[in-house]
Amino acid sequence: MNRNSLIRNLLDEPGKLWDVIVIGGGATGLGVALDSVTRGYKTLLLEQSDFSKGTSSRSTKLVHGGVRYLSQGDVLLVKEALHERGIFLKNAPHLTANQEFVIPVYTLWDVILYTVGLKFYDLLSGRLSMGKSYYISPGKAIERLPLLKSEGLKGAIVYHDGQFDDSRMAVTLASACVENGGTVLNYFRVNGLLKDETGKIKGVDARDVISGREFRINSRLVINATGVFADEIHRMDHRDSKATIRPSQGVHVVLDNVFLRSSSAIMIPKTDDGRVLFAIPWYGKVVVGTTDTPLNDITLEPRALDEEIDFILKTAGKYLTMPPKREDIKCVFAGLRPLAANHEKPEATKEVSRRHKITLSPSGLLSIIGGKWTSYRRMAEETIDKAIRSGILGRKPCATKDFRFYSGNCRLKDERLKIYGPGAAEIEKLIDKDPETGDLIDSRLPYTKAEITWICRNEMPVKLEDVLARRSRALFLDARASLDAAPVVAAIMARESGAGNDWIEKELDDYRNLVGKYL
Ligand SMILES: Cc1cc2nc3c(=O)[nH]c(=O)nc-3n(C[C@H](O)[C@H](O)[C@H](O)COP(=O)(O)OP(=O)(O)OC[C@H]3O[C@@H](n4cnc5c(N)ncnc54)[C@H](O)[C@@H]3O)c2cc1C
Repeated sequence: MNRNSLIRNLLDEPGKLWDVIVIGGGATGLGVALDSVTRGYKTLLLEQSDFSKGTSSRSTKLVHGGVRYLSQGDVLLVKEALHERGIFLKNAPHLTANQEFVIPVYTLWDVILYTVGLKFYDLLSGRLSMGKSYYISPGKAIERLPLLKSEGLKGAIVYHDGQFDDSRMAVTLASACVENGGTVLNYFRVNGLLKDETGKIKGVDARDVISGREFRINSRLVINATGVFADEIHRMDHRDSKATIRPSQGVHVVLDNVFLRSSSAIMIPKTDDGRVLFAIPWYGKVVVGTTDTPLNDITLEPRALDEEIDFILKTAGKYLTMPPKREDIKCVFAGLRPLAANHEKPEATKEVSRRHKITLSPSGLLSIIGGKWTSYRRMAEETIDKAIRSGILGRKPCATKDFRFYSGNCRLKDERLKIYGPGAAEIEKLIDKDPETGDLIDSRLPYTKAEITWICRNEMPVKLEDVLARRSRALFLDARASLDAAPVVAAIMARESGAGNDWIEKELDDYRNLVGKYL
């Protein structure tokens, strides 16, 4: 991916008519763009910030059916998600893993309830099951989770779900779009919708946020995949459009693995606020969360509330022999769920269905809102199918069910590098050629200088933050360490792009301000 040459696709043919313009470069928009381009439509995706800067880099990182939704009786949602889980794991083996979860149980009733519930979960996954669930004794539970409190423990239920790296999946989708002839641009904001004399949408007004250059771009179809920002686009379509989204914030804290000391994850099915809480091993750390706090503010950089952090630490401390404290936190991140607004019961966000919604406005704006990372592929298929059924696009079959992002056949010296898919072998070649590039960017982080160089050459980062937060996960794994690594990373980025010292200084300043929000 090269941003300048992709922008040339807009400049070389100024009046070009695209088949599909997708607004929003999160899981939903990137999934829709890939579905569209692999069916053969001329496709352009515009993201106002970096790919997955919004909710899509701030998830719990699970590819799952959602045990919680089962207890809410949403069997169809869980069944569909479990099916998509199977497809996701098959198509992106380099970014996903089979994760074992342990549910500690403290009453005999819970032993029965969760054993039966998880058996049903297994049953719903059918042939795409990731492993059977089963009961284990208290002793076996402590063998698996040595730091679990054993007092009153009646045993545990073990089950399996998928885990992944959300922002690396997003950049993998972006790169697959480009490889298949699509154009995807980060730091390109849509500021308005173009309409013809009958009021039908015929394109967008967009701005390259980096150069400030304005573009008028024509398209047969415009798709609004902007998550919590969807109502902004609805208002571009119709000034008086009613609010459809109520954001609900979910917070996670990242801790050292000394607090879990296990490769199994813990799932607490019912916390004091009625949600589930996960503690999941991830890249050598533990991600603990999440919360569900209704908010009114919609921003790209949501901040965790003090009470949310306290709630997570307090709940984790109830189950772990070594309760984590504030000073143990390596990173805290918050994300916004684009839940459907319920004007009668605005506080009841936990009960709002996580099902996605596709709508077509009278002017032809197709919006896809809600859903889950796990189901991004199916959501995309349904969105493009709706455009075909409405007569906006000619009929072409969906091609993403068997779209393999990486075959995973490459033999690597360092297995960790498989997260770069086919790029892993190229990174190893860089290190072979110049062994110093095999040095880590910081001793507390797993990333080498060669990875940063490869990212700059292939994955279109624009800002320092793009590399440290989303191409690598340095910010999420250890915010302070990522700040210490920032000068080295900025110097590599400047060398690769030809930027000068002013750029480095400005980026370091911006990054310092950003990191403060994750500590
Ligand atoms: C705390 C939390 C945990 C979660 N955990 C999981 C999980 O474990 N597994 C799972 O399957 N799902 C999970 N989800 C759900 C999943 O993360 C979301 O469904 C998904 O990321 C939403 O993606 P999106 O593309 O719709 O929105 P976003 O990722 O927010 O993308 C929308 C994009 O639109 C862009 N945009 C907005 N306005 C404009 C404009 N005018 N011009 C150009 N671009 C614009 C934004 O910059 C943004 O990048 C979780 C959600 C939350 C909040």
